[in-house]
Amino acid sequence: LTSEEKSIILNSIRDIPDFPKPGILFKDITTLLGNPQAFDTLMNHLEKRYEGYELDYVAGIDARGFIFGSILADRLGIGFVPVRKQGKLPYTTVAEKYSLEYGFDEVEIHIDAFGEEKGAKVLLIDDLIATGGTAKAAANLIDKVGAHCVEACFIMELAFLNGREGFNSEVYSVLQID
Ligand code: AMP
Repeated sequence: LTSEEKSIILNSIRDIPDFPKPGILFKDITTLLGNPQAFDTLMNHLEKRYEGYELDYVAGIDARGFIFGSILADRLGIGFVPVRKQGKLPYTTVAEKYSLEYGFDEVEIHIDAFGEEKGAKVLLIDDLIATGGTAKAAANLIDKVGAHCVEACFIMELAFLNGREGFNSEVYSVLQID
């Protein structure tokens, strides 16, 4: 990724102060999605990076991970698997709780999401890693159903929160924000 390409992507993302609550600077990727040059620059970069990985699936986190993950899976010629918030998936699921600032949340995956064979190589993707709680729970789910999370990929990493610490898989982010 050249510094020019990096700027195209970074400049297409909008900062929204105090959303969804006071003190949070929300990174709004809807403006990236609406900018075909920035969106294509990003997807070309991800496609190039993961071409050589011999992945079996891309798993995306509810909901913005679905957008980047499904396009990437299609470009790589492999399947896409959604990791969803509790109560959304219709078939038998495996669940994992994780802690939030206050209380808990839960993510789920279909028990047969990666097929019959064990050890499928999976790339996990989301738009942003903050504390890493959501993505670590998602990576655990991938392991729980018999597959292997090779790498966790994020468009943005809030580096000051050290969310990548304690990950069992590799962690990659396109843009680091401090
Ligand atoms: P965490 O579990 O703390 O790493 O939070 C990551 C999840 O929350 C991801 O699904 C992000 O999309 C969302 N998220 C957390 N912080 C932000 C932020 N500042 N801007 C946009 N999305 C965020």
